[in-house]
Amino acid sequence: MIDLRSDTVTQPTAAMRAAMAAAAVGDDVYGEDPTVNALQQRLAAELGFEAGLFVSSGTQGNLCALLAHCQRGDEYLVGMDAHTYKFEAGGAAVLGSIQPQPIVQDDDGSLPLDALERARKIDDMHFARTRLLALENTWHGRVLPQDYVVAASRWARAHGLGMHLDGARLFNAAVASGCSARELAAPFDTVSVCLSKGLGAPAGSVLLGSRVLIDAARRWRKMLGGGMRQAGVLAAAGLHALDHHRARLVQDHARAAQLAAGLADIDGIRVTAHHTNMVFIEVARERLQTLAAHLHAHGVRASIGYLPTVRLVTHLDIDDAAIAHTLAAFRAFA
Ligand SMILES: *Cc1c(COP(=O)(O)O)cnc(C)c1O
Repeated sequence: MIDLRSDTVTQPTAAMRAAMAAAAVGDDVYGEDPTVNALQQRLAAELGFEAGLFVSSGTQGNLCALLAHCQRGDEYLVGMDAHTYKFEAGGAAVLGSIQPQPIVQDDDGSLPLDALERARKIDDMHFARTRLLALENTWHGRVLPQDYVVAASRWARAHGLGMHLDGARLFNAAVASGCSARELAAPFDTVSVCLSKGLGAPAGSVLLGSRVLIDAARRWRKMLGGGMRQAGVLAAAGLHALDHHRARLVQDHARAAQLAAGLADIDGIRVTAHHTNMVFIEVARERLQTLAAHLHAHGVRASIGYLPTVRLVTHLDIDDAAIAHTLAAFRAFA
């Protein structure tokens, strides 16, 4: 199967498995796993933060961050189509009693400053306390314009709000924009990055922030059941991914561009967007189920039904032959 549903579907490489098998480990709840500690310290140093926290998933990292920033009855400003609002089962509201204030995003993923200003509550007992602005980079593959991020953080700081970045695919944003991940992370108090997306590790994310925020997040992680023990076997996969799978993200982006260009030439398929490692297409609604069955029969999987458009994502396990095969399958469908 050529699985283009997501960049989460990658298999750990033989070299990654070897690194995992060789990892030195200890009990991370006691803070004694040397490989987890190395991963946390490495990313904190590289992205310019005091501390890092290895978590089981991006969802757990975002939730720990929201819980560390906000108290019960606080509010975070967040994109209407943001992962932290829409794709995390409502965790901040359910588990933190934190009210989301969703904001309709512009096409580039930004939350317009005038909309943020209208949504921000004044200090009054009728209102939740607006506490945090949460952004996402990349968002549906789009690199958030950094001048927007800087302007948004200036606005947030002026009103005493914290800043969290869901940087699940921050390294895709870095290689696509030519800005360092550190530069992209600089305007934020906390940043979560995924190791299990384009980087190709089997599990894990790291949350970065100040010592105070990370200590708070660690307590929440424990409460959420995320205190893992000899987690160094997973952290080793993350360290291996940082060493070996970061620069190659440009190949995923090039293959996505190739896929988008090929699909654009096929009758009945409209490429609606193509950014970093993601391609979004539309086909006539009544043909969607046929498309899914057709692709399946040709050994291709795409994400159909979760979003208004069909999503195709390139990753470590998609090579040039897979792109050619996928385009042939789509041509046969047309
Ligand atoms: C995948 C993803 C996450 C975290 O997802 P998990 O499946 O919990 O690791 C968070 N934000 C964005 C934008 C993502 O794409």
